[in-house]
Formats: sequence, structure tokens, C-alpha cells
Amino acid sequence: MTQSAPPLSAAPLVDRFDRRITYLRLSVTDRCDLRCAYCMPERMEFLPRAEVLTLEEMHRLALSFIDRGVTKIRLTGGEPLVRRDMMQLVRALGRKLGDGLEELTLTTNATRLAEFADDLRAAGVERVNISLDTRDPNLFRQLSRRAVLPQVLDGIAAAREAGLKVKINTVALKGLNEAEIPSLVEWAHGQGFDLTLIEVMPLGEVEGDRFDHYLPLDAVRRDLEGRWSLADIPLRTGGPSRYVQVAETGGRIGFITPLTGNFCAGCNRVRVTATGQLFMCLGGEGQVDLRAALRSADPDAALAQAFERAMGEKPEKHHFVIDRPGAAPALARHMSTTGG
Ligand code: SAM
Ligand code: SF4
Repeated sequence: MTQSAPPLSAAPLVDRFDRRITYLRLSVTDRCDLRCAYCMPERMEFLPRAEVLTLEEMHRLALSFIDRGVTKIRLTGGEPLVRRDMMQLVRALGRKLGDGLEELTLTTNATRLAEFADDLRAAGVERVNISLDTRDPNLFRQLSRRAVLPQVLDGIAAAREAGLKVKINTVALKGLNEAEIPSLVEWAHGQGFDLTLIEVMPLGEVEGDRFDHYLPLDAVRRDLEGRWSLADIPLRTGGPSRYVQVAETGGRIGFITPLTGNFCAGCNRVRVTATGQLFMCLGGEGQVDLRAALRSADPDAALAQAFERAMGEKPEKHHFVIDRPGAAPALARHMSTTGG
């Protein structure tokens, strides 16, 4: 993979609301080996491979973002570790650590992490976010439609052994994993992992109605406060999570509340899909075609123009609601397409 993505301009990316963009979430594939029921339907239609950027194109794009002041890149998907040769991209980006890039990280469902944990660590990845909604094998199969909890737990153990810092992400689901949340927290904290709870978002059609399992996190927090002493802490990881410290377990819980608490004022991020579409907001339709820019006659000039347009269009905030049964998703796009 080549190292050259000549900067046309090194000016930082700053939007209309004076927010500096320092964080890129890059979806390396929309494909996945699980079918989490809140994320996608069983018969999810994936993109034709020809539309997806090559790893070289992704690398080049990532370098252009670094040239413009992005210091943190998270590789996501779909499931990033199902993309063949994904480690090539990780290694190439790992070489930028300390040279513009401050952090390279990954969000994964961990089904293949046992195979890749050591390589990720060797390439310079220090932390991974792992999605785990339950440790109950039956519920895991029901939620993800695949019976692979043992592989996931092996992947998590491998990450820990490889020296990766792990954060667990858990979507809070009424009547599904709701009762298990305290024991998931205890387990995570016992392993030395933070755990972040996420409200389910109305993104893309799925088979069921998300309303049935939507669980506002203020209710979860009240329940946890009945059990433990939670203290708000000022920890910010550059993301939307608000953290509390749990006195009894010694660990931290994050709350991501896209529905009950809007967190857009400090937004520092943009997302690029596997086809090179730049989304300025997870909750908005606005997109800029970086693939066309990359494949144009003068990619540097076209990318600079595309970045400028994107900064002019990044919206001030998103607005999600899940307030009645049967409502259509706020956006047709699935989280797995934009890169969760
Ligand atoms: N496959 C990887 C994984 O699951 O970690 C990375 C991509 S996945 C789209 C990233 C995160 O988005 C996961 O933590 C998942 O639980 C979350 N997610 C997916 N669909 C969601 C939705 N509709 N609302 C809230 N979170 C969602
Ligand atoms: Fe796959 Fe992640 Fe979506 Fe689950 S949440 S279906 S693991 S992309």
C-alpha cells in the first residue's frame, strides 16, 4: 500500500458551527456475519462488491483526513474483521501513529477477534470497542440470529490477553437484555472493562418494531442507582458517552443517549461509508461523494472541494424519536451502512 496522499491544503476541517473535525469513523465493509435484530433484517441486502472502495482507496482517503487534522480513526462496519485483508489497512494506518494520527481503533462484534487480536495490537491498536448485548447463549442467538457466543467470548478474552484495552458496548433493550444489564456491568467491570449503554436508534428497516424494545437510559440509570452508588465523572473520550463511576465495582458505565439527551454541540466526527460516501451526521441525509472525488482526474483538488462542501453542510444536530408503535425509521439507512 503506498504512503502518498499529497496534501492540497493542511487547513483543519472546521464546520459552520466552529466544531473542529478530528475524528473519522471509516466503515470498511457493510457486510456482517451477525444479524442483530435491531440493526438489520435477516435478509439484509449488501452492496455489490464493485461499489465498495478498495483498501488502497480507503488508505488514501484516511491519509487525506489525517492531513486535514483528523487525529483519531475508528474502523467499523458492518463487521470490519470480515473484510479480507483488512489487516493490511490496519498496518498501513498504524504506520501513521505518531505522525499525525494519535489513535487507531476498531469497533467489532468480536466473532473473529481471537484470530486478529495479537496482530491488531502489533499494528499499534491499543483499544477496541466490542459490542455485546448479552452473555446468555439463548438470548445471544435470538438477538444476533447466530449461535456464536462462545467465539465472541473467546475473542474478548484474546483481546484482553493481547493487551488491548476493551470497552463493551451494549444496546439496552426493553424486555430482552434489560434485566441482565446489572450482571453485564458486574462482569465487564470484573474484567477491567468499561461498559457503555446505548439507546436503540431508528435507523433502517428491520423485521420487528424497535418501539417494542426501546428502553430510555434515564430509566436504566435510576434502576442502577437503586443498586449502586453512581458518581458523574467528567471523563470525555471524544464521543457522546457521559460516564459515571460505580463505587461498588470500581468500574465505569457510559450512557449514549441519542434520543433522550442530544449530544451534538461538541460533535467532532464524520463518517465515511464503504463506498466512500462522507456523512456529516449519523442522523442526517447529507452526504458527499468522496469516491467520485478519489476517482476523478485531479483527486487532490476534488477531495479538497468535497471536504469544503461537507464542512458547509454538517448539520447543527440530529433529532431522533421513537414515540409510537409502527413508525417508519427516521432514516432508511442502516447503522451498518454508515458505520456505527
Ligand atoms: N459490527 C460491529 C459491531 O457490532 O460492533 C461494528 C458495527 S455496529 C453497526 C456498531 C454499533 O452499532 C454496535 O455497538 C451496535 O450495537 C450498534 N447499533 C447497530 N444498530 C443500532 C441501532 N439501530 N441503534 C443503536 N445502536 C445500533
Ligand atoms: Fe453486525 Fe454490528 Fe449490526 Fe450486529 S450491530 S448486525 S454485529 S453490524
